[in-house]
Amino acid sequence: MGYKDDLHGVANLLDAYLEASIQGTPPVIHQQAMRQNIQNLDLERLALEGGLHGERLQQFLTDYLDTTTRLHHPHFMAHQVATPHPSGSYGALVDALTNNAMAIYEMGPGAASVEYFVVNWMLRHAGWTPAPLEELKARHNEPFGGGLLTHGGSLANLTALLMARNLAAPESWQKGVPKDLVVLAGPPAHYSLSRAVSILGLGQQALVALPADAYGVVLPDRLEDVYSDLQRQGKRVMAVVANACQTAAGLYDPLKPMAQFCRRHGLWLHVDGAHGASALLSQTHRFRLDGLELADSLTWDAHKMLRAPVLCAALLTRDHRNLDHIFSQDAPYLFHQKDEPGIDFAHRTVECTKAGLGLRFFMVLGAMGEQALGQYVQRQYDLAAQAWQFLGTQGDLEMGPLPQSNILCFRVQGSDALQLAIRDQMNREGSFYLSSTLLAGKRYLRAVLMNPETTMAHIEALAHKVLGLAKQLIIT
Ligand SMILES: *Cc1c(COP(=O)(O)O)cnc(C)c1O
Repeated sequence: MGYKDDLHGVANLLDAYLEASIQGTPPVIHQQAMRQNIQNLDLERLALEGGLHGERLQQFLTDYLDTTTRLHHPHFMAHQVATPHPSGSYGALVDALTNNAMAIYEMGPGAASVEYFVVNWMLRHAGWTPAPLEELKARHNEPFGGGLLTHGGSLANLTALLMARNLAAPESWQKGVPKDLVVLAGPPAHYSLSRAVSILGLGQQALVALPADAYGVVLPDRLEDVYSDLQRQGKRVMAVVANACQTAAGLYDPLKPMAQFCRRHGLWLHVDGAHGASALLSQTHRFRLDGLELADSLTWDAHKMLRAPVLCAALLTRDHRNLDHIFSQDAPYLFHQKDEPGIDFAHRTVECTKAGLGLRFFMVLGAMGEQALGQYVQRQYDLAAQAWQFLGTQGDLEMGPLPQSNILCFRVQGSDALQLAIRDQMNREGSFYLSSTLLAGKRYLRAVLMNPETTMAHIEALAHKVLGLAKQLIIT
C-alpha cells in the first residue's frame, strides 16, 4: 500500500473520466453551489484528519471529477481553453512530480532545454530565426529571434509591452514613466492589455482605441490620421497592438498594413496571437498572419489551440536582445557569471520560480507531430465556417460575422435577455456549454470549437436545442 497503488488508482479514474467525457455521457457542465461542493468533498474533515489515500482518495477523486466542467465532452464549446491531448497532461504530471523549476538552468536542465526547443520551434513558424544552438553564447549579441514560455498570455502581453517601453523610454525603470507615452490597439483588445498598460504605469488614458469596423477589426486606412493627431498632441507611440485574433468574434486585424505602418514610423508592433497564432500551422489559414514577419513581438498560447493543458504560453520576439535587459535588477544568488552548459531564463521573466512549461506542449507535439497538429487547427477553423453556413439556414437564427477562426457567434431572434436565458438553461441541464458576448451592441451566443471530437452532428443537435428553448422560454 502506498503511492504506487494510488498512482494506478488515479490513472484508472482518469481513464474512465476521459472515456465517458468523449462519449458525451455525463453532463458537460455540472454547477452545484460552492457550499455543496465543499461539503460533498468532505474538505473540512480531510483537512483536519488527513488520510487522503487508498479508498478515500478514490472516493474523493470520483466526487471531484463529478464537479468538473468536461472539456473533452463534444458539447464543450464555451471558452478558448484547449481540450488537452492526454500526452500533454502527462507532461503536466511529470513536471509536477519532478518539480524542476527551470528559470535557472541548473534547476532543470531538461526542462530548460525543452523550453528552448519549443520557443525556437515557434519562432521558426513565426518566420523569425532562432540563434544556432552551437554558437549560442558566442553569437549572443546578434539579432536572432528569442523568447520564453510564461504562465499565460496575459503575462506574455505584459512582458511584450515592457520591452516596448524599454525601447521607447529606457529611463522608465529608474525614474518612472514619462507622461507622453501611448499604446494603440483595436477596441476589442484583450483585457490583459489594458491591465498591462496600467501595471506599466501609463494609466488607462494612454490606451488609444484604433478606428475599427462594427466588429472591432482595425481599419488600416485610418492609421496615418490617428498618428498625425497624436503627434500634434505631443504624444509618443510606445507600441501598436494587433489582435490575431480578437477574443469576442475571433476575427483577425489586417496585420500586413499595420506592420507596414509601424515600419514606416519605427513603432513597436506587438501581435496578440494568444489564440490565433496557431493558424501559422495551417496551410489554408496562415495567410491571416501575413505581415507577422515585420512585427516585433508575438504572444502565442499553446494552451489554447495547440492542445496543451494550462498554462503554457509563449512570448516571442524578432530580436532577443530586446528581452535581455528588461528587468534591470540585482539578485546575486541567481544572476552571476556561471560556467554552465545551458542558459538561464530568469533574467527574462516576471516569474522567479517557473514551472517546466515546455513539457505540457512538447509532449503533445511529440505525440502528434506538427503536421497532424496543423490539421487539427485547420479542422477546427473549417468546422466553424461550416457550422456558420448551416446555422444560417435555420430560420430563426441571426448570424454574427463569417468566422475567421474556430469562434462562431449567433443569436436567436429576440432580446438580449433571451440569449442569456437560453445559455443559462443549457448550463443548468448540462446539455451544451457555450459562452456569450456583446457584438456590435447585441448579445450573441458564442461557440468556441476547441474539441476535436465535436462534429457537424453536434452542431445540428445544438441548433435543435437552442431553437427548442427559444420557443419554450418566455422572456419579456
Ligand atoms: C486568451 C487571450 C489572452 C490571455 O491569455 P491567457 O493565457 O488567458 O492569460 C490574451 N489575448 C488574447 C487575444 C487571448 O485570446
